[in-house]
Amino acid sequence: MTSQIYLDGVNRSFDGFKAINNLSLTVDKGELRAIIGPNGAGKTTMMDIITGKTRPDSGEVFWNEKVDLTRIDEAGSARLGIGRKFQKPTVFETLTVEDNIALALKDDRSVFATLFHRQTAADATKITELLELVKLEPERARLAADLSHGQKQWLEIGMLLAQDPELLLVDEPAAGMTDAETMRTADLLKDIAGQHTVIVVEHDMEFVRALDCKVTVLHQGHVLAEGNLDHVSANPEVIEVYLGR
Ligand code: ADP
Repeated sequence: MTSQIYLDGVNRSFDGFKAINNLSLTVDKGELRAIIGPNGAGKTTMMDIITGKTRPDSGEVFWNEKVDLTRIDEAGSARLGIGRKFQKPTVFETLTVEDNIALALKDDRSVFATLFHRQTAADATKITELLELVKLEPERARLAADLSHGQKQWLEIGMLLAQDPELLLVDEPAAGMTDAETMRTADLLKDIAGQHTVIVVEHDMEFVRALDCKVTVLHQGHVLAEGNLDHVSANPEVIEVYLGR
């Protein structure tokens, strides 16, 4: 199995505090992986290192087994095919759902050119496919501003997929969602995995259970446990530091 992301012995300190401490982690191509851990465990810093927002002090970070990500900045990682979804949805509220996707598909064109020129047949097909994937086809003509919080999150995921990333990093997608939206989001990420590698940072354990994938527990900047959710949640160290029991 080819690795999509390979971290080995990675360290990163802030003012002498080791946010990432000898972190080693491999995520395979096409895998869906959940990253959990208490606040301050280093989850955000880990994603910052993968996307080139933060450089590690030491250690190896490889993309597709050969590209050294420690030498690449955020723009470079986006060009390689690393997409990142931050917690808050960022969609163009005053545009329709369809136009949000159309814009994301054409980030090399100006907004004007995208919105006022006729779509090619290939673009129209791609937009419909993406809207169906994120379950927003029935909403395509609505303004993004009128969507629910969960629908905005799905729209942004659709916009990221329009760029056809190899890897999608998703930060707490279920935060603020209804139970139904949370379960739908788990289904969506499961649908996306395989075609894309997906790494999800999440706190909501019901959501992580629904993802039904390998889970990595981070604590104090390193991997405390790895395996399916039942396996890691039976680990005494995980119970002590993470579940607080
Ligand atoms: P998580 O996402 O798991 O909550 P973070 O990666 O945000 O954890 O943070 C890990 C630790 O590193 C925290 O103690 C945080 O305060 C610290 N940290 C993260 N980024 C910075 C920074 N830019 N400057 C100083 N400290 C930071």
